[in-house]
Amino acid sequence: MINVPRGTKDVLPNQSYKWQYVEETAREVARVFNLKEVRTPTFEHTELFKRGVGETTDVVNKEMYTFEDKGGRSMTLKPEGTAGVARMFIENGLASSPMPVKTFYITPAFRYENPQAGRLREFHQFGIEVFGSSSPETDAEVIFAASSFLDKLKIKGVKLEINSIGCRICRNEYNKALKNYFAPHLEEMCANCRSRFDKNPLRMLDCKEEKCKNIAKGAPKITDYLCDDCKKHFDGVRSLLDAEGLEYTVNSNIVRGLDYYSRTVFEFVSTEIGSQGTVCGGGRYDGLLSELGGNPLPAIGFAAGIERLLLLMENTGVPFPEDSVPLIYLAGMDEKSRAQAFKIAAGLRGNGVCAEVDHMQRSVKAQLKYADKTGAKFVAVIGESELESSVLNVKKMSDGTTSAVKIAELYSYLCKEDK
Ligand code: ATP
Ligand code: MG
Repeated sequence: MINVPRGTKDVLPNQSYKWQYVEETAREVARVFNLKEVRTPTFEHTELFKRGVGETTDVVNKEMYTFEDKGGRSMTLKPEGTAGVARMFIENGLASSPMPVKTFYITPAFRYENPQAGRLREFHQFGIEVFGSSSPETDAEVIFAASSFLDKLKIKGVKLEINSIGCRICRNEYNKALKNYFAPHLEEMCANCRSRFDKNPLRMLDCKEEKCKNIAKGAPKITDYLCDDCKKHFDGVRSLLDAEGLEYTVNSNIVRGLDYYSRTVFEFVSTEIGSQGTVCGGGRYDGLLSELGGNPLPAIGFAAGIERLLLLMENTGVPFPEDSVPLIYLAGMDEKSRAQAFKIAAGLRGNGVCAEVDHMQRSVKAQLKYADKTGAKFVAVIGESELESSVLNVKKMSDGTTSAVKIAELYSYLCKEDK
């Protein structure tokens, strides 16, 4: 028996409606925010993620699914969505379209992680990326889009945390302060942090090791080092959130897992699903497009982990809409009736009605039992007399009543009754 690979999951036929619901909700949020869907390849040149995610990140250092293809090129399964969308933006000259360019995606992502609840090796993200605007309105709108997605799903108890990590200018000063702070603790910190100390001390705030986390708690706060422009921008974002009454806390330890962020960063965090509590994370990445060789345009986005959302919804008893069921099950008593049932079902399906018939040569009794299991809303049995009269006795399963309905009028009857 060959098992599903560690850290991956099947979505079973009786569970997929939950995924569809979350994805439909994502699409609906995208529609009202005027975000257009984009799809990029599942694998890209490894170099894209090295440059676009950053060499000092866990994602690039430890988590990438990298392989050599038969042509000897180094390829990587996408560990996140942003780098691919940024590449697409540059490669297709979208910089010359009217700004901002507002996009969204629903994509699988791959990271070689230690699998646990809410942490998989293949997971899925709903993400948005908005290119071309550096105004605080855009930051606020992206945060509102994430918040309205969680609201629409009726997810409760998720807290918004925001921070600004400044720009290159303020980060210069801040990095010096961080180094001064971390230098005496370096011996006690993990090897990763020791190498981050030289390359990108900001990353040391994002370490997952308990001992490093504890040391990072006392580190200087980036918000005390913001330059005037970054401070003004952050204040602007905050007042827009305040104006909408969107609650948040400023958490100066949020730096986000990826290297290319600047200014606003944010996370939506739940306490209900253990340590993997971040259901959505995002931020501004004004330096990414130029890093990838494009025009230096600002951009901002977020990604929400669909598995984590589903886990949260299941754990907290958030209601899902019911799965779809057949509108009618047509049982046949003999060969001729079964053929007729098949024909009626084909006609109904042509009109968009979900109709079901027997595939298993079951007895009528067994067919009815199966019909019940499918949750069909109406059931009709076809036998000799129905064939002769072209009238069916249609049973409404919700109340057990039956109605005599002409086959020619079955479709309009079902439409009328299925309210
Ligand atoms: P974490 O701190 O949990 O490792 P991250 O900072 O690596 O998260 P991002 O790269 O910002 O996560 O990805 C955005 C979202 O994607 C996360 O908030 C989370 O909901 C989801 N996500 C990230 N990694 C995984 C994973 N391995 N399995 C399931 N969901 C994930
Ligand atoms: Mg991670």
